[in-house]
Amino acid sequence: MTKEIENIKKEINQMIIERDNLTKKINEISVEITNKTRRLYELSPKYIKVVCPSCGGKGYIQEDNRKRICPSCGGVEYLWMVKYEK
Ligand SMILES: [Zn+2]
Repeated sequence: MTKEIENIKKEINQMIIERDNLTKKINEISVEITNKTRRLYELSPKYIKVVCPSCGGKGYIQEDNRKRICPSCGGVEYLWMVKYEK
């Protein structure tokens, strides 16, 4: 019984480590996707960079004496838009 309890604790700890490593890897991949997407927009003549209309290029929204990261631009102060063409 005690042996089984110890084994289960070890397995749980091992799984926690594995989960944390996977979470870290997923976060790294997400950052890389964001960076490559921005680079793609920079290189493409189809896109233009504009000041974020939600925060006016501040990167944050002021409300109730508190600043919070702008939900539209995520704090980067600008958005990439598809150029209007007909
Ligand atoms: Zn913004």
